[in-house]
Amino acid sequence: MESFNPADCIQDLQFFGEYGDVNPSISDSSTYTFLSAKKMFDTFESNVEGCYLYSRHTSPSNLYLDSALAAMEGTESASVTASGMGAITSTLLQLCGNGDHIVSSRTVYGGTYAFLKNFAPRMGIKTSFVDITKLDLVEAAINSDTKILYCETVSNPLLEVADIASLSKIAKKHNLKLVVDNTFSPLSVAPARLGADIVLHSLTKYINGTSDTIGGVVCSSVEFINSLKNVNDGATMLLGPTMDSLRSASILKNLRTLHIRMKQHSHNAMYLSAKLEADGIKTVYPGLPSHPSHELYRTMIHPDYGYGGMMTIDVGSFDKANALMELMQERNVGYLAVSLGFYKTLFTAPGNSTSSEIPLDEQEAMGLTNSLVRFSIGLDNDIERTYQMIKKCMQELHIL
Ligand SMILES: *Cc1c(COP(=O)(O)O)cnc(C)c1O
Repeated sequence: MESFNPADCIQDLQFFGEYGDVNPSISDSSTYTFLSAKKMFDTFESNVEGCYLYSRHTSPSNLYLDSALAAMEGTESASVTASGMGAITSTLLQLCGNGDHIVSSRTVYGGTYAFLKNFAPRMGIKTSFVDITKLDLVEAAINSDTKILYCETVSNPLLEVADIASLSKIAKKHNLKLVVDNTFSPLSVAPARLGADIVLHSLTKYINGTSDTIGGVVCSSVEFINSLKNVNDGATMLLGPTMDSLRSASILKNLRTLHIRMKQHSHNAMYLSAKLEADGIKTVYPGLPSHPSHELYRTMIHPDYGYGGMMTIDVGSFDKANALMELMQERNVGYLAVSLGFYKTLFTAPGNSTSSEIPLDEQEAMGLTNSLVRFSIGLDNDIERTYQMIKKCMQELHIL
């Protein structure tokens, strides 16, 4: 694991602009000219190397970001999309059709859950939701129609860890594609190196890191990425979740600092979770020895980037959770907002916002209580100072 450092792979890429610019030129066009009609025909048919046709298919700017993200994930290829959901739904619809079946972790992003539960059945695609940490249950849910095993490296919002290497063995045995959403753990975990066939991200979160855009990516083999872009039956080509070139250029620039940011997010979250747990607050963070998958996760992560910036606490009641979030916002600890990966700490009560698609009884069965507060810990310079601010809020609200 340690010999592969994804940040070095990004660092080693060299993209110049057309005048020797230190950033690549931005392609500001939707369509491209050809010197000969034959070349245009050939490009349309088979992706002639170095030729561009139409920017829904691909654009030079998007290819720079594609290659940087493929390098980061250690996959042959990648394709950026206009959103994380655009990457997820295109991938699932490329691999599945009428009559097919998916085995998915039951704790996935709310939008993914809603798509699998409510939307995919309209196309004849059924999903079984399982506890992804119980490998025997995962295998038992597979049937002869199953095409995909789907999970998140670290799940949203419960921070359950998927044993990707073991899931990959199950997937191979049953001839399934293992699709992993790695949004919570860029650089820390490289799922493809653990056996995942397809790695997805919402770029909206850590990778872009500035909460100023929505974006996504699919990282996989050249064969799968080309199938997504196929003009006759490719999901991204035909459904059209295309990222704009101006935006992919700005995300590429933000990607350059991802390694520094991930170290600080992980450092801060480790510090706060240890302090709050020691204070007696029920805290979930994969870096804490109390986390049920701590030992497994320790073997999965690249030590340089740590256990990530996401943690949850349970403050005992719904009213206390809301009061705490409002007070922390008032004191400028962070913002009461969905999303994650920002420089500022963000907090939400996921039972009532990002996971509201999951029915209440199912939420309770999986430990997703409405007194849970999910934190995306920011890049705070002095995390002890932040801890003291949070502690004061908790004392005033009689949580501590
Ligand atoms: C935000 C998120 C998504 C969806 O991505 P968008 O960019 O909002 O479409 C998918 N998976 C996870 C884990 C997320 O956090």
